[in-house]
Amino acid sequence: MPEYSTFRPKILLHSCCGTCAIYPYFLLKKDFDVTLFYYNPNLYPEEEYIKRLEDIKTISKKYYIPLIEGNYENEKWLSLTADFKDEPEGGRRCTLCFDMRLHETVCMAKKLGFDFFGTTLTISPHKNHEIINSIGMKLASVKGINFYEANLKKMDGFKKTMELSKKLNLYRQNYCGCIYSMK
Ligand code: SF4
Repeated sequence: MPEYSTFRPKILLHSCCGTCAIYPYFLLKKDFDVTLFYYNPNLYPEEEYIKRLEDIKTISKKYYIPLIEGNYENEKWLSLTADFKDEPEGGRRCTLCFDMRLHETVCMAKKLGFDFFGTTLTISPHKNHEIINSIGMKLASVKGINFYEANLKKMDGFKKTMELSKKLNLYRQNYCGCIYSMK
């Protein structure tokens, strides 16, 4: 008789908003026990941070997805990225921004005993999945935990998450999130 494993790895999935989280959640829940992690100190103004958080809470309640909220450390983020404030989107400021958010995610995942950590950031057509994945893999090897390497925008991932977002009436922002991307 074949043996079936009931083990499902636990993943802490960093998410920047409800729209970016919804399709990845459905994709990952086939293989993982997913917990969402909302840590986005880049978001400005605070009203924007709260608006996106409210959407994450909405999907968390609707689909019974555990949710952890990180600290809103916008001052810390501003000082980290100050030297690169004039860089275009996709430049070095964004690399630091990904790194800060993934660093907090891996630390939380490790602290709480998750098997994996990951992020929904690669679903955006504006974000370079290779940079995000290389940061994730580097952190994974330093901390001794698995990183869910992915390019979530492929196979129509972005289109699918937008369709779900519209269906659920989630907020769809028109800028990446930080003060510099508001222009
Ligand atoms: S443009 Fe987006 S990814 Fe780049 S620094 Fe601003 S919030 Fe972060």
